Amino acid sequence: MTGERILMRNFDRPDSHTLAAYRATGGYAAWAKAQGMEPAAITEEVKASNLRGLGGAGFPTGTKWSFIPKGHTGPVYLVINADEGEPGTFKDRYLLERDPHALLEGMLIAARAIRAATGFVYIRGEYVEPWRRFDAAVREAYDAGYLGKGFDVVVHRGAGAYICGEETGLISSLEGKKGWPKVKPPFPAIKGAFGMPTIVNNVETISHVPHIIDRGGAWFAALGTRTQGGTRMFSVSGRVARPGVYEASVAITLRQLIDDLAGGVTGNGRLKGVVPGGSSAPILRADEIDVTMDVDGLRNAGTMAGSAGVVVMDETVSIPEALLVVARFYAHESCGQCTPCRESTGWIYKMVRRIVEGRGRKEDLDTILDVARRGAGTTICAFYDGAVGPYLSYIEKFRDEFEALIAK
Ligand code: SF4
Repeated sequence: MTGERILMRNFDRPDSHTLAAYRATGGYAAWAKAQGMEPAAITEEVKASNLRGLGGAGFPTGTKWSFIPKGHTGPVYLVINADEGEPGTFKDRYLLERDPHALLEGMLIAARAIRAATGFVYIRGEYVEPWRRFDAAVREAYDAGYLGKGFDVVVHRGAGAYICGEETGLISSLEGKKGWPKVKPPFPAIKGAFGMPTIVNNVETISHVPHIIDRGGAWFAALGTRTQGGTRMFSVSGRVARPGVYEASVAITLRQLIDDLAGGVTGNGRLKGVVPGGSSAPILRADEIDVTMDVDGLRNAGTMAGSAGVVVMDETVSIPEALLVVARFYAHESCGQCTPCRESTGWIYKMVRRIVEGRGRKEDLDTILDVARRGAGTTICAFYDGAVGPYLSYIEKFRDEFEALIAK
């Protein structure tokens, strides 16, 4: 089930980040091929691949590209979201550090498909080494003539706000404004960076594109499930024998990922729960992990694939304490524009803390659930809905643990 490593195929080479190593393993051949293709044909190939966004939302990539208005004559921008900040997720940093030219080649091809002359790469501020490696690769690509002939790349470093990973917040930050999300529509493909049509894609998503052009959309589609093609990189952390980043087909099950790739559960050896897609993904119980890791498989299981950050908890982990960590994060990172998000994230954090510290009251759990539900779907961006997922699922699935703390 693990199959072929595509994105990580060169990761074991110490020089994998260099242009020489990239070219020695077939790098930039797909770009040469794409230059002989019509832009629409590139988009069709990506549509045929069933590639879906791997940053969190899981939207079909080729379909997103086709939203650029036909007949638009002004600039079009390609923006790469490298603001990897979802707790439990640490895969894009490896792509930037170990295979930066794959992202650059993917950008060249994507830019041809959407007719963009400029690409921005928005890198998380804390990612110093990934930024250094990627920036060096950009300079190599200019020196070699891949960049600067109809397509330029601008590298932009963020300043550490989680919300700048939300595409409209990212665009605001890129424009030099406060990184506040905006109401959609208009979607960035219609009105994005500097008011122009803009495609925002994740690092991993675009790093797949050269392989799709090289080997064909049908090949990529066949690697995955019926509705999502290919492999993806899973960041696995928590109570497993071998935490790390693993590339596997999206058709792998969560159980296979934990047992076969990550070496099984540690701690007391018995699984309690798993967060399958970064901190915003609702938690799954131990009896819910026979589920494929594609977007639709996890959605049908009541959670989400998100950024594929898999956090494993054994029976010794306190779920209320785990929720406290998550609740503190959302309270800290809310940008504060929307009342339900600004007020509820701070208030729920305080309520969970009170329970964990043994000061909870018996009505607290239902009050938290009620407050969390009331705000869902009412805010500018998906941040608050992302916080509601853990609030509800941790309490609903492990209510006895919270009640035991309140009863003390
Ligand atoms: Fe900001 Fe939260 Fe509203 Fe998103 S939902 S815009 S993070 S206040």
